[in-house]
Amino acid sequence: MHKPLEDQHGRKASYMRVSVTDRCNLRCTYCAGEAKNFIPHPDILRYEEILDLMELAVKMGVEKMRFTGGEPFVRKGFADFMVNAAERFPGVDLCVTSNATLIGEHVERLAQAGIKRVNISLDTMVPKKFREITGRDEFHTVRANIDRCLDAGMKVKVNAVAMRGVNDDELPVFVEFARSNPVDMRFIEFMPVGTENGWDDSLVWTANDILAEAKELADLEQLAGKEGGRKGPARMFSMVGGKGRIGLISPYTNHFCGTCNRLRLTSDGDLRTCLFSDDVFPLREALRNPVLGLEEVERIIRGASVHKPMGHELLKQRAQGQGVCQTRMASIGG
Ligand code: SAM
Repeated sequence: MHKPLEDQHGRKASYMRVSVTDRCNLRCTYCAGEAKNFIPHPDILRYEEILDLMELAVKMGVEKMRFTGGEPFVRKGFADFMVNAAERFPGVDLCVTSNATLIGEHVERLAQAGIKRVNISLDTMVPKKFREITGRDEFHTVRANIDRCLDAGMKVKVNAVAMRGVNDDELPVFVEFARSNPVDMRFIEFMPVGTENGWDDSLVWTANDILAEAKELADLEQLAGKEGGRKGPARMFSMVGGKGRIGLISPYTNHFCGTCNRLRLTSDGDLRTCLFSDDVFPLREALRNPVLGLEEVERIIRGASVHKPMGHELLKQRAQGQGVCQTRMASIGG
């Protein structure tokens, strides 16, 4: 076992988000839209390389890994990769973030392999609006695949990017969805990440506003401790008489940098220590170099982790109306 990763603020990195591709089959307006210039295939880490990095990360104290994209299921062999990873790292908490358009045929196999938690992005319950936001007519597929994941015994978190003038009229429908389904229905504040997503202060439907409005619709009770989000990014609320819960993630108005335990790995092998920073620490070259290899990769990860910034400081520094991080979310993985 190597020394655990700890930064200068005393935060330990125990959670790694791994993007397996920057490509996506949806065109969400707030994310990458119609973006084109994708990472060339030879620069994308091969699955074996990701497994090697996972092994190293686990030795450095990473306990949880979330696989994301782009859309992870767009990449060939992703479900097989997850099954392999679950076999090789039985003690590691492995989970997936997906738009759930392509997950359907893989659900049962993933659940059997031990992938028990999936985050599914769904920003609207109106099929026509789904098409407007994502550019694709896939609402019913996503909705059916949420049920399929639940039927397979997975824990499902449904994440909606909360946007004024886009989905703020749908709160009653979202609350009803959480009342009648055993899901965590979570609202994420629209973040100023990327430059082509039309982000504007006025579009942020804040977590506090959502909570106030949701309390008019349901009897909500904040959960205590870690479950309630006092140690994680989401504040969670149970609903009297409801099967599911409501969650609020407020990276914009109420940061959780003090408890951040995350590192991010992009599909081309760049380490990012903060979503709101454009600083990257390339690992691929060292990883592919037979002389340098994992020893050098470890040195880079350690050096980068120590200086992990407090993202809210970067938010404060940003010029009004400008994106904090210039890279689009689909390339980072969210
Ligand atoms: N394709 C997968 C999905 O749809 O979940 C994984 C990648 S996606 C980039 C990860 C998450 O980032 C999604 O929940 C998406 O809604 C969220 N996201 C993208 N851009 C965002 C933004 N500007 N603000 C807040 N969340 C954003």
